[in-house]
Amino acid sequence: MRFTGQCRCGHVSINIEAPQLPPLYACHCLNCQRWSGSAFGLHLLCAAAALQVTGETATHVHEHQGQTSTQHACGQCHTRLFNETTAAPGMCVVRAGVLEGTERFEPVAHIWTRRKQPWLVLPEAVAQWEESPTPEAFAAALTPDP
Ligand SMILES: [Zn+2]
Ligand SMILES: [Zn+2]
Repeated sequence: MRFTGQCRCGHVSINIEAPQLPPLYACHCLNCQRWSGSAFGLHLLCAAAALQVTGETATHVHEHQGQTSTQHACGQCHTRLFNETTAAPGMCVVRAGVLEGTERFEPVAHIWTRRKQPWLVLPEAVAQWEESPTPEAFAAALTPDP
């Protein structure tokens, strides 16, 4: 399957080639709220090798809990597009809202629900954690049932 997306101005476009819909999760933490200017961050996990980027991005590198995260945004309109982190080598975390056809995506996990906006009601069947889950529990939630 191919997923395409772009920044607000169209200077940067991205392509993801994946055998199936990559897992999507929502993070309700304060950083994601600030960084998105919204109620939560919507993140799609894919292999870095599956992501193709056309156009020049500007990067912002920051340290978080001992890990280094490199954020890529459009160099012109500054739309956040994706990031890489030393916490998950070989993976990319795409800001899912930049993709076409986002109605196909539904989060399989919600994290940092302690910070969730009170008006937002989550489906009970979806995995959720008050803060960050353990890497093992999170990986299990993001892995589709065979
Ligand atoms: Zn742009
Ligand atoms: Zn977050």
